[in-house]
Amino acid sequence: MEHPENSNEYKGLQVNSGVGSAPIVNPYRRRRVATMLSPGDYVEGILKGDVSTLGRAVTLIESTAETHQAVAQEVIEKCLPYSGNSRRIGITGVPGAGKSTSIDEFGMHVIRQGGKLAVLAIDPSSERSRGSILGDKTRMEKLSQQKEAFIRPSPSAGSLGGVARKTRETIVLCEAAGYDNIFVETVGVGQSETAVHSMVDFFLLIQLAGTGDELQGIKRGIMEMADGIVINKADGDNIDRANLAAAQFRNALHLFPPTPSGWKPEVLTYSGYYGLGIDKVWDMIDRYFEFVKQTGYFSRKRNEQAKYWMLETIDTQLRHHFYSRPDVAALLEQKELRVLNNEQSSFTAARDVLDFYFSSLCAK
Ligand code: GDP
Repeated sequence: MEHPENSNEYKGLQVNSGVGSAPIVNPYRRRRVATMLSPGDYVEGILKGDVSTLGRAVTLIESTAETHQAVAQEVIEKCLPYSGNSRRIGITGVPGAGKSTSIDEFGMHVIRQGGKLAVLAIDPSSERSRGSILGDKTRMEKLSQQKEAFIRPSPSAGSLGGVARKTRETIVLCEAAGYDNIFVETVGVGQSETAVHSMVDFFLLIQLAGTGDELQGIKRGIMEMADGIVINKADGDNIDRANLAAAQFRNALHLFPPTPSGWKPEVLTYSGYYGLGIDKVWDMIDRYFEFVKQTGYFSRKRNEQAKYWMLETIDTQLRHHFYSRPDVAALLEQKELRVLNNEQSSFTAARDVLDFYFSSLCAK
């Protein structure tokens, strides 16, 4: 068919028909698959801080292949005693709020202070569309050139829970590799905040001023999770508006119940692009860590999170086991029909399916 851009509308433009891809010259050629290391070798490389081994181990975590998962779990287990020694910081904000610009600056600040950081992400968009809102590592131009920074885009496969678990596991490896600051970035548009909140010590919400409805745009739940709210783009003629937005947020926070940590969330303005006020933001984060370490909340929260992830993993595995059984799926289908035809109640139908499932487990 004639290409639409060859119509008269696009004068001076000629689109030639394409050439099909060339046939495979050697159909017997086998694709080279990177050989897997032994779990011990992965661990050794990670503990030495070898970025390439770390990257490969994270790829195993992200893989759905059972052999990869088995090795990945062993590596995580062995790295666990060397993990935990970091600040885990969640960063959220709507697209365009300036997350990548800010992380670039925050990260450079960490490096200037002698630290190392890993930037991980949980990108809910990848779940359905396979596209990504957060984009890839090139977004952080300065950081991506620093050897002290390890930047990894969001794992793309699976449910939000699955993606979050992989990021949680990746944190362990990054800490074992010596990254003492872990940033977990997400887009402030939905459920992913809760997932990030369940794996970080400090949760930073990046906001913008000047939209006129500052407080309506964000879900109350996200604000309640925040340990710090920062208004970005406080530069040029936007400074007054940023200050006004900060005042509004401070007022709104007064109405919120006290946080479980006892820490009073702070509201600051800064400019990620011009690098203004970054040290103030970092100061706040320093003070938070001092505070929660002193009160004991820091380790209490980490323990709770560890428990949460254990229960979450059990939950996921149980569901997976249940729903992946073909006989269960067949019975579910039958029962669904009966429920829809009013031949059986939802509850007895559910009980029948569960009875079937449990008795088949006992029979094994
Ligand atoms: P993200 O989608 O949240 O990661 O946002 P980006 O970091 O990609 O920033 C979105 C846009 O806002 C880009 O065009 C940035 O250059 C711009 N931007 C980010 N931070 C600032 C800032 O502090 N001041 C100004 N004026 N622009 C900024």
